[in-house]
Amino acid sequence: MPHADSGLARSRALRFLWPLAVAVVGVVAGYLLSVGLSGYFVFLAVSAVTAAIAILGLGIVTGSAGMIALCQLTFAAVGAWVVSLFNVLEVPGGFVVWLIAGGLAAGVVGILVGLPALRLRGVNLAVVTLGFAAAFDVTLLQIQFPGSKDGIPVLRPEGFSTDRGYFFFSIIVLAVCGLVVFWLQRGRWGSSWKAVAFSERGTASVGQSVQQAKLTAFAVSAALGGISGGLLAGQVQLPFASSFTPLQSLALYVLAVMSGAYLIDMAIFGGILWVLVPELLKRWGVPQDWGFVIFGALGVQALTSGTNLGQGIRNLWWKRADRRAAAAREAAKADAAADRAAVEPPAEASAPPAPPAASASDEPALSVTGLTVQFGALKALDEVSLEVPAGSVMGLIGPNGAGKSTFVDAISGFLPHASGTVRLGGTALGRMSPTKRARLGLRRTFQQDRVPPALTVDAYVRFVARRRVTAEEVAEVLDFFGCPPARTRLAGVDVGTRRLVEVAANVLAKPRVLLLDEPAAGLSHEEHLELGARLREVPARYGMAIVLIEHDLDLVRTVCSTLTVLDFGRVLASGPQDEVLADPAVIKAYMGETEML
Ligand code: ADP
Ligand code: MG
Repeated sequence: MPHADSGLARSRALRFLWPLAVAVVGVVAGYLLSVGLSGYFVFLAVSAVTAAIAILGLGIVTGSAGMIALCQLTFAAVGAWVVSLFNVLEVPGGFVVWLIAGGLAAGVVGILVGLPALRLRGVNLAVVTLGFAAAFDVTLLQIQFPGSKDGIPVLRPEGFSTDRGYFFFSIIVLAVCGLVVFWLQRGRWGSSWKAVAFSERGTASVGQSVQQAKLTAFAVSAALGGISGGLLAGQVQLPFASSFTPLQSLALYVLAVMSGAYLIDMAIFGGILWVLVPELLKRWGVPQDWGFVIFGALGVQALTSGTNLGQGIRNLWWKRADRRAAAAREAAKADAAADRAAVEPPAEASAPPAPPAASASDEPALSVTGLTVQFGALKALDEVSLEVPAGSVMGLIGPNGAGKSTFVDAISGFLPHASGTVRLGGTALGRMSPTKRARLGLRRTFQQDRVPPALTVDAYVRFVARRRVTAEEVAEVLDFFGCPPARTRLAGVDVGTRRLVEVAANVLAKPRVLLLDEPAAGLSHEEHLELGARLREVPARYGMAIVLIEHDLDLVRTVCSTLTVLDFGRVLASGPQDEVLADPAVIKAYMGETEML
């Protein structure tokens, strides 16, 4: 369908171009403002722009990646310091080059500060970053900004040296930063930040390094801080340590949390508040430090209610969009069901599953020997050995607490104290990390929801696939599993559907082995059967072996060619499903569970 293709290409180009158009409009508006504002307001406006850039950076580390960093103005100080130094040294290239250097230097410092974040979380990380801000503050008071003693003013960029001109320059810098952040947020890094904020395990399980996600968030965030500080150095021309105190970093953090600064418009709004509140207080004759109290109170409100201003405004809009999308989805589902009922003979669903593809004589996709996991006194897995033939669906069944999820955790590398051997294809996995295993072609889904709600279905699927996939491929796999369309926000769908998207995304990743831990939990009975029918086709269609943990034995019977039964951490039986289901030991263990017979 060339028509649809060109439509898709056009919509992709549009998605790329509209932020550019918004940025251009912003710059033009900025120019008009720079001409129209009176002198004093021009100065305030530059302050608002520099604050907005710092808040934008803060939004990445806190809003997207979910970490607390209380030293944003320290990164700004690093940027300002480098710009001052380059100014004194008269480094060729002028202000723009110095500003970029300031951003890069702050980015490097950001990575160093981010290193503790690989081990620390929450309050501990907050304390470390605040401590760093305090230490740097003391240092800055000692060493001062280069050129400040001799009163050498920072040279502004050529053509932008007046206050009005410099405001216009700062608007251009803000537009560029906004665009870069927008595109980063849309890309792999952005997805990894939102994923790591929701679940580190979930992030590692799709082959994304958790360390990399955290450090890139810190680096980009700090670089924006550095650019903000560099801009401020050009604004005031003789920067002082008092512009970059830990207390101000703290207030900026609160402002970022309150406004929802991972959204670019909200960062600008935050920047305006940052300037406006102290200014108003000054006019009303109230000491400006009370501004911190106001920010503090607003921050407490945002943190306790769990939503921020930007989120609140957007939720109103999204709720409407979600309702409309859900209605469209229901209609499409009903259509599809009617179509299938008309075409498919119902008997097909209960036919025994096809034996593994021709490659049955090949090496097994997964082979496990002597896998043992001990939790204190409890042996959750006891010398478990089994093989998953290539190109097949193996069912893993057993009562609650039998060790099925523990098995998946151990195989996918989340239980480093597990003993035994796991081989994927011919490769022994040894002590490999979950990320590495995922990259080698071992994927798993979780019994609990680990799908980051901050992403769209499209962004999530691409993130999980870890390879270049076309919009058609994404649409195809979503359609195959009956998932909502690519542009849907994951926050707007129920948990069962989210987990269905998780399955579809991992299938699109085309691993060698995919472990599915009760993927149908949360789905309706019809959706459950539908998923089973789809999974049956996956090995032939997408080329992988599946281990399916599933309670519904009817479904297991129709989907799985081989079965392993776990009971109290031991393998009760394993092999072709008819043999396993006829095994007296299995029947005995399942006595009373009428669905067995
Ligand atoms: P299943 O998925 O088959 O229902 P699990 O693998 O979740 O069972 O659990 C197997 C056994 O191991 C249960 O008795 C459970 O309580 C125990 N268990 C699972 N995870 C842990 C853990 N992190 N610490 C201690 N015990 C655990
Ligand atoms: Mg379980």
